[in-house]
Amino acid sequence: MVRDAYPETFEGLAPSKPLGENIFSGPTPHPNEVLNLFIQQKLTSALPMAYYMATRRGIGSLMDRSLPQSATLSPGILQSAMTGLMALREVELNETHRLIFEQTDSRFCSTPKCPSRTATSPAALDAYRKVFSHIVGSSQQGTKVLQVPEFYEDYEGDLRCVGPNICSNCVQRWESGHADLRKKVWTELADIFGLSSY
Ligand SMILES: [Zn+2]
Repeated sequence: MVRDAYPETFEGLAPSKPLGENIFSGPTPHPNEVLNLFIQQKLTSALPMAYYMATRRGIGSLMDRSLPQSATLSPGILQSAMTGLMALREVELNETHRLIFEQTDSRFCSTPKCPSRTATSPAALDAYRKVFSHIVGSSQQGTKVLQVPEFYEDYEGDLRCVGPNICSNCVQRWESGHADLRKKVWTELADIFGLSSY
């Protein structure tokens, strides 16, 4: 069960499966608590994912002083988690920015009304900005780099890209680019949290 929710392979990260702390029966434990538990039990193969699940909620959650002892991270663990979170945030912001803003131009898009036809136009930049902030969450403190992004929103029953008039070809290109990003981050996760020497 733990193996499914804290998968060792990228393929185990299927969006339909419950991940992380949601698999525990009874009240859902805080991800910090799960991380502490896995470290105590030396469940090393599940540690990269357990670190990720804890950092996902951001610094406030990692350092939350109101948590019980069992969910309080020791200085060493906290340091690994914070270092990893910074690295993940940077990769997430830079790579998503590159994906949306730089890998989009008329060569790949032949849909007449799609703003990507003129990728430097104000309409295109406005659309890219909306897509970018929708995916990375401009005010968000944690990370969702391993999460499958939602490029579409439901406008009264009509599914439309969050970037106005962006065509489905462009969204597909971004979806596959983001899948590559998730795979890359996943393979580096142990390194990112300083676990490679285990
Ligand atoms: Zn397009």
